[in-house]
Amino acid sequence: MDVNEFRRRGKEVVDAIADYYENLDNVPPLSAVSPGYLYKIMPNEAPEDPESFEDIQADIKTKIMPGMTHWQSGNFFAWFPSNSSFPAILGDMYSSMFNIVGFNWICSPAATELETVVMDWLGKLVGLDKRYMGIKDDGTEGTGGGVIQGTASEAHIVVMIAGREKALERLKAQGLSEDDADKMRYKFVAYFSDQTHSAGQKAANIIGCKTHTVPTGDDLRLTKQALRAAIAADKAAGLIPFFVCGTFGTTNTTAIDDLPGIAEVAESEHMWNHVDAAYAGAALVCPEFRPLAAGIERADSFNFNAHKWMLTNFDCSALWVADSTHLVNALSIHREYFPPAEDSTSFVKNYRDWQLPLGRRFRALKLWFVLRMYGASGIRAHIREHVRQAKWLEEKLLADGRFEILAPAVFGLVVFRLKASAISKSDKDADLESLNKANTDLVTYCNEDGRLFMLSTQLKGVVAVRVAIGSSFGTQKNVDLVLDVLKESASKVIAEF
Ligand SMILES: *Cc1c(COP(=O)(O)O)cnc(C)c1O
Repeated sequence: MDVNEFRRRGKEVVDAIADYYENLDNVPPLSAVSPGYLYKIMPNEAPEDPESFEDIQADIKTKIMPGMTHWQSGNFFAWFPSNSSFPAILGDMYSSMFNIVGFNWICSPAATELETVVMDWLGKLVGLDKRYMGIKDDGTEGTGGGVIQGTASEAHIVVMIAGREKALERLKAQGLSEDDADKMRYKFVAYFSDQTHSAGQKAANIIGCKTHTVPTGDDLRLTKQALRAAIAADKAAGLIPFFVCGTFGTTNTTAIDDLPGIAEVAESEHMWNHVDAAYAGAALVCPEFRPLAAGIERADSFNFNAHKWMLTNFDCSALWVADSTHLVNALSIHREYFPPAEDSTSFVKNYRDWQLPLGRRFRALKLWFVLRMYGASGIRAHIREHVRQAKWLEEKLLADGRFEILAPAVFGLVVFRLKASAISKSDKDADLESLNKANTDLVTYCNEDGRLFMLSTQLKGVVAVRVAIGSSFGTQKNVDLVLDVLKESASKVIAEF
């Protein structure tokens, strides 16, 4: 393909993308193919001779589209949203254009410096404490700063490594030799709750530390009392607590852990305190949500995915650390084939030392496009509209009388079930097993309807329906549809009981 054909095809592709977005609401959001569908219709080998763009474009329609689940549909309510926006797509096009590998400042000074600037913008926008800023108000280098990771899972690994480094340094400061400190690594324990995202356990598996899953109560929040009890038991067994993850908006129910309490424990135990706000962190652009996040100003690191609910195409996971020393000490390795390390000044961060891989994409561009083209007011309006829709759905479900809310809709997630009295034929309420089956059926029927896609989860053995509102392109009419389909499907479930 030469540059002239690229010019023509590029415009066609942009048209195809625009058509796709215009028609999304008319397409079933969930793919209906069976596993292995593609293998059966694909050639066994890559083509020997070049094929035409037309042929590939045709295959997008016939072979790829049927196997797509449409996350951008306004009728997609599963997991958490994966926001897309036109400004972010355009920003990403420029990123593809440059296609840099931006591990050091000199690899492309604009890439490093834009990331530092927009991460400070974003940090201020969500009300983060000054400790997390890459550049202080006086223009000098901050001790901390923001960095764009691919995912919250990578952010977890990165901060856990930093936490381990901090703990090793502490042991050495207490007089242990490098070797003896190293031998203690296998006694390090990371603390999570039974509601912490699986990313925490995965990070622990990767770095090779022990984990302690702390039970939550009925409100599904990690409390400082439970954390303290877990730590005391482990210390009595000779283990070394080094890391704790509090969650601002859990994946199951958007519960918020006792973040000030966790900070208090982490400070007294010298543990690294990470706050995972992968989904709900985006809500902090609206000041009315900030009181819920009290405590994050005392954490060591904070992470949220701009690619979930903040209009920035995947991947863009925003991570801030209050002090980058341990992170950089743990991950900085020099080789002669790198450019000479620039003096780290406020404008020169070697982000290769802030992440797992060496290479990195120019992801700050799409975030910059989003922040500028929506403005803070546009992003706030986006969040507030989804929160309004979630509360509306919650109200309508309660008004129906057959549903009960299992966790209050604070953000865009509505968690509920058909209640026992709705499905029981006698005075006696249905047992948990029947109730769980009824609610599993409810979700199955809703999805079989074909117009929308949602999922259930389990809260300590209780099947709960989970409707995650937040698609960039979702409007009230999509939530109207959810309510209609839920009511119809509920009647079907009840009739069958
Ligand atoms: C979605 C989610 C994650 C994982 O996100 P990735 O970016 O896909 O790794 C982690 N924590 C919470 C609370 C989440 O909701």
